[in-house]
Amino acid sequence: MSFTLAIVGRPNVGKSTLFNRLVGRKLALVDDQPGVTRDLREGAGRLGDLRFVVIDSAGLEMAEDDSLQGRMRRLTERAVDEADICLFVIDARAGVTAADEYFADILRRRARHVVLAANKAEGRAGEAGAMEAFALGLGEPLRISAEHGEGMDDLYAVLAPLA
Ligand code: GDP
Ligand code: MG
Repeated sequence: MSFTLAIVGRPNVGKSTLFNRLVGRKLALVDDQPGVTRDLREGAGRLGDLRFVVIDSAGLEMAEDDSLQGRMRRLTERAVDEADICLFVIDARAGVTAADEYFADILRRRARHVVLAANKAEGRAGEAGAMEAFALGLGEPLRISAEHGEGMDDLYAVLAPLA
């Protein structure tokens, strides 16, 4: 069976980099500027023998108003509602931020299933940040590196039983 996976999280944690890796081409715009992905992008994701729809969402933003940030947040909530599984990405090097905690709360209430991933954890980087992420109450964080392709077998092991 196929499923829809939404990649969510605050800007600049590496969502689009992970999307590109799962889709296998440079569809999503990756940039050093936070929040470069302005709307939802959908692609055909593959990981091992898994085939799924993957959604790259704009960074969840905390603004509640009608600003660009507010619209991005609503877009992301749409992605969460459409998804069977939300892959919630944090930056293991930055550790858990207030924004991460805010969105963890939204995901706990709104998402059907959340998989937590601590990205930018290539080599031994980000071990402390990944440990911190336990406190989000979303289970054991997967340590991954979207850029270097590390942790993809662990991601597979978590997604395969949910597919
Ligand atoms: P998004 O805003 O969440 O979509 O993040 P992007 O995918 O645009 O990435 C933001 C920045 O983080 C870019 O400079 C990426 O090259 C960098 N980045 C993404 N994944 C990794 C990773 O696994 N390790 C490291 N060190 N940097 C990463
Ligand atoms: Mg992006």
